[in-house]
Amino acid sequence: MKQLQYFVIHCTATPEGREVTPDDIMQWHLAPRFPSPQEIETLIKANASKPALLNILRSPNVLVYKGNYYSDVNALPNETIGGVSIKRLRGRGWSRVGYSDMIMLDGSLVNLTPYDDDNYVEPWEITNGASGINGLARHIVYAGGKDKTDLSLKTNKDTRTPAQNETLKNWVFNIIAKHPTIKGAGHNQFAKKACPSFNVPQWLKSIGVADVNIHHSPVFL
Ligand SMILES: [Zn+2]
Repeated sequence: MKQLQYFVIHCTATPEGREVTPDDIMQWHLAPRFPSPQEIETLIKANASKPALLNILRSPNVLVYKGNYYSDVNALPNETIGGVSIKRLRGRGWSRVGYSDMIMLDGSLVNLTPYDDDNYVEPWEITNGASGINGLARHIVYAGGKDKTDLSLKTNKDTRTPAQNETLKNWVFNIIAKHPTIKGAGHNQFAKKACPSFNVPQWLKSIGVADVNIHHSPVFL
């Protein structure tokens, strides 16, 4: 169990003005996924001593859901996301959602994964926001991040509404008050992607966050 070192800001990579609900995020991240043939091959090699798992991995319509493998849709548990059977949904098959909290367009803050106020990231608090640092980080996402006029969704844009901005600001000062040595960053400081479509160190500085609470690695934009 590691110390909480970073808070990381994300966007949902959806067009400006489009609402995103907690169920949307659950579906994107947790709903079942068809693993690639290459992935299956690697898994078969890695699990040579587990005949039951090998059987599932060799089935033609194998799915991954919450990190576990199922032979086909009928083998999936009877669970729902947003009232829809997971058997009808497809997502990334992750075992945990990507964020602890989300901020909807009207500025509402919604908790997706519970956490406590100590300085450790317990296994039940982990979210899958940015590979490599999830055991050290708390992730927050705002709905938006893409220019709505580009239908291909290739144009990144800081689409935070005034209400989202206000909520994010309060969230930032709140987490710093609870964890005085924590550093804030954007996803684009840990991965070569545009998320969250703005320069987080610059923004943190502009709202008066102390330098010790800003992660200063280069920003990919
Ligand atoms: Zn992100």
